[in-house]
Amino acid sequence: MALGRDDVAAWLRALRVVYAENKTLLTDLDAAIGDADHGINLDRGFSALVAELDKNAPADIRGLLQTTAMTLIRHVGGAAGPLYGTFFLRAASACAGKQRLEAPDVVALFEAGLQGIVERGKAAPGEKTMVDALAPAVEAMQRSLGDGGRLGDILQAGAQAAEEGMKATIPMEARKGRASYLGPRSVGHQDPGATSAWLLVKTAAERWR
Ligand code: ADP
Ligand code: MG
Repeated sequence: MALGRDDVAAWLRALRVVYAENKTLLTDLDAAIGDADHGINLDRGFSALVAELDKNAPADIRGLLQTTAMTLIRHVGGAAGPLYGTFFLRAASACAGKQRLEAPDVVALFEAGLQGIVERGKAAPGEKTMVDALAPAVEAMQRSLGDGGRLGDILQAGAQAAEEGMKATIPMEARKGRASYLGPRSVGHQDPGATSAWLLVKTAAERWR
């Protein structure tokens, strides 16, 4: 199965619903080790995105991802706006010229997005950030692709690894972003950004099954 432009649009619109539904969860997680705005930030960003898509929907995959990047950068403050903005900007470049995404293209999309977040935020694995969910997800997707997995299996493997990576942030001490100001007191809490990153992958797995 390959994905077309409408499948990508459906993922982005589903993310708006998912982040609205998880607004309180993400904000509560951020209240424990940050400033209680992560859910609000993503809800605002993806609501703005859907408003933009309703008004002016790009005709191709790259354009959709580019509009997502620009909208998130414009409407989402804090760390997450530029980081997820960079994810979608790099994802857009990875999809340049593609009308359809085959399994390797989907893995390349997530790989490029993760790379953008790492370059922008400079977080290494283990520093209690969204990277701790996304990096294992990308590795699991690459592994599944290498094993000849189909798109649905690849995304399922990615979502599961993201969930495990998200849970693994609980005992970590934050080394990046606002939570790092707490030092050892950040231990024992699940990272909000790792949680929103899990939702990003999980929603793709659900929409693109
Ligand atoms: P802010 O911390 O500015 O209020 P958000 O609350 O929206 O922004 O996002 C917080 C999340 O951003 C954290 O949970 C963490 O996962 C992520 N984050 C913060 N700094 C970095 C970084 N340098 N690299 C990757 N992710 C980061
Ligand atoms: Mg915050």
